[in-house]
Amino acid sequence: MKIKSFTALALAFIIAAACTNSRQKKPTVVATTSILGDAAKVLLQGADSVAVVSLMGPGVDPHLYKASQGDIESLSKAKLIIYNGLHLEGKMTELFAKLKNKRVFEAGKAVNQARLINATEFGGAYDPHIWFDPMLWQEVIVALSAELSNTFPKERDLISKNLEAYLVKLNTLHQNNILLLDNISESQRVLITAHDAFKYFGRAYNIKVVGLQGISTTAEYGIKDVSNLVQLIVENEVKAVFVESSVPVRSIEAVIEAARTEGHAVQLGGELYSDALGDANSEANTYLGMFQQNVL
Ligand code: ZN
Repeated sequence: MKIKSFTALALAFIIAAACTNSRQKKPTVVATTSILGDAAKVLLQGADSVAVVSLMGPGVDPHLYKASQGDIESLSKAKLIIYNGLHLEGKMTELFAKLKNKRVFEAGKAVNQARLINATEFGGAYDPHIWFDPMLWQEVIVALSAELSNTFPKERDLISKNLEAYLVKLNTLHQNNILLLDNISESQRVLITAHDAFKYFGRAYNIKVVGLQGISTTAEYGIKDVSNLVQLIVENEVKAVFVESSVPVRSIEAVIEAARTEGHAVQLGGELYSDALGDANSEANTYLGMFQQNVL
């Protein structure tokens, strides 16, 4: 009798341990930026057996982000790692190289290379901000859905359903952007921002985009950059320049101040979301929401 109850107890213990274990072992998809995390969440919506984690929270600048010890642990445990590549996560390159035996998805490799913008001022590298053209982003979404289906074959049908619905939403977003931005007159089609995150956006919607800082926030800007930008603002009678949620406001304030001394009043426009989504309570906490907030 005693042996029997001991066995039962042991068995109960083993089952309990197995349960805790399986909870801990829920496979994770670990994305670097919140924008990539959102893509994975959309495609895996309803798939309760998989958890999606984004390493960088709202307002975090990926160009400057350094992985924490906790991030390294999350990455090493991940079933699938999603990163942007094209040097967006500039300080994590070495870390990605070390994770070679892991399953990784690199968004920059998923798009047609001919559609990438060559940023010659940045050592001949490609501009990494590929999410700002919804039609280009569709290529990433399609490739990511295939990768997720291969990684989680049981969720294949669900992922394909989510993909179909999301592609429709991205198409609608693109059409709405065209309608909204069509009203801007030719001379006013200039977007001035703190760093050059919007080149793909500019190409997609025929808007000249000028950033003070180039395509990475790691680059220092000099007095010449400020004066060039000021000249452009004065010549085009630009009325507003924009700050970004993941870049300090002081860089663009220097431009406004300099334009003012040249006798041209330019306003600080609203905050744009560039390399990170808004926080959970904001309307920019998803890719679609972020885009709508930026364009409005
Ligand atoms: Zn950027």
